Amino acid sequence: MSDEAACAICATEGGPSEAVIFRDEHWAAEVVAGYEVPGWVILRARRHAERITALTDEELASFGFRARDLVAAVSTVMDAPATYLMVFGENYPHFHVLIAPRGADVPVERRGGDILRLRGELADPDAAFALVPAMRAAYGSA
Ligand SMILES: [Zn+2]
Repeated sequence: MSDEAACAICATEGGPSEAVIFRDEHWAAEVVAGYEVPGWVILRARRHAERITALTDEELASFGFRARDLVAAVSTVMDAPATYLMVFGENYPHFHVLIAPRGADVPVERRGGDILRLRGELADPDAAFALVPAMRAAYGSA
């Protein structure tokens, strides 16, 4: 089996349209199964590219704009005091970033990287998907 065939990030290409904030030639932003915390969005390369080092110059050139505009859209919709842009690539080497707004209600000791530990507690798929139209609109006007 190829890396691409086994890749959970590549598999989101076949996800539901209700999850999609945008897709363009190189990038897609979606609410992803297992990370359905309201406001959390994954921005991923549309092809199987492992780590940032595998991106082409063309992909890199557009990445900053997509990440900036998506963080702006998420921050606006969620009225978040902070919005995190996280890249790990440990469990899923396909290049992607998790964009996670941090609400005012998140305790200080859970901020920063510890926000990931709230994934289970904060998961609310219906609420996460319900935010997609507002995120699309905010992204489109960023
Ligand atoms: Zn992949």
